[in-house]
Amino acid sequence: MNSKKINKKVIILIILFLALLLVGVIIYFFNKPNYIKNDIPYVDDNIDKKVELNSKEELLPKEIIASVPIFMYHFILSDYGNYPDTENFLKPETLEEQLKYISENGYQTIFMNEIESLYKYDKPVALTFDDCFVYFYNNAFPLLKKYNQKATICLIYNYINGENYLTDEQIKEMIDSGLVSVESHTLSHRELTTLSDEEERKEILESKEKLENDFNISLSTICYPVGDYNKDTINVAKEQYKYGLAMTGGMYHSNIHDLYSIPRIYANRTMPLSTYINYLKQSKVELVW
Ligand SMILES: [Zn+2]
Repeated sequence: MNSKKINKKVIILIILFLALLLVGVIIYFFNKPNYIKNDIPYVDDNIDKKVELNSKEELLPKEIIASVPIFMYHFILSDYGNYPDTENFLKPETLEEQLKYISENGYQTIFMNEIESLYKYDKPVALTFDDCFVYFYNNAFPLLKKYNQKATICLIYNYINGENYLTDEQIKEMIDSGLVSVESHTLSHRELTTLSDEEERKEILESKEKLENDFNISLSTICYPVGDYNKDTINVAKEQYKYGLAMTGGMYHSNIHDLYSIPRIYANRTMPLSTYINYLKQSKVELVW
């Protein structure tokens, strides 16, 4: 074997070695973990996401069949004054009795936007307040905080900051508490089926856009004023909302009711606590895996 041949072999070996080294270096850099890339203490920011994804995959059932009492309230006020429609007024003491029962008996208040993700709950109940006015902030919100319960408020956009209505600051404070979620009760509370197509669209869609922009939130639900709606109303609602709240009585059953005609139970001031409790007892969530 002459020295030229040996040299050639050595050179080939060196080239092979360098090529392998290069491949190794490339592989190393492509798989470099975050703690080396960023020169910061090792925190794999994908870990949480992975766990979340896995647990969600594990937790999510194929189907959720739920029966939920969704109570509809209006004004929470001790002194009804000269208001003609006193059925809509509930004394704070009555609301307190109900919240006390809810919290002491393991019922779980949910926001309207949770109505399709009830796998987290076994005894859900939703409390919805229409119109609200400042009475909600003065008389209901303190009770929600006392009993740590959630409520959905349906606001009339054009009334905000007006006489006896909620102010921007009050609404922000309630949203920040985590106990109150805001949904739309249109711009001006006019009966939707009496309006022109254009006006109806404006009432439904603009109220959502304005509330979302003003309070930096996402809305899911339109609450039809005085429970007045028809097919056209639903078609407009479907463009931007996931749910529509009606005023037909009775429990909400996920396997029966349309999400744009969700029934609510009128928690008026003449409803005895025993009736309220009977509705609560029908709350159930069945998971199909
Ligand atoms: Zn209303």
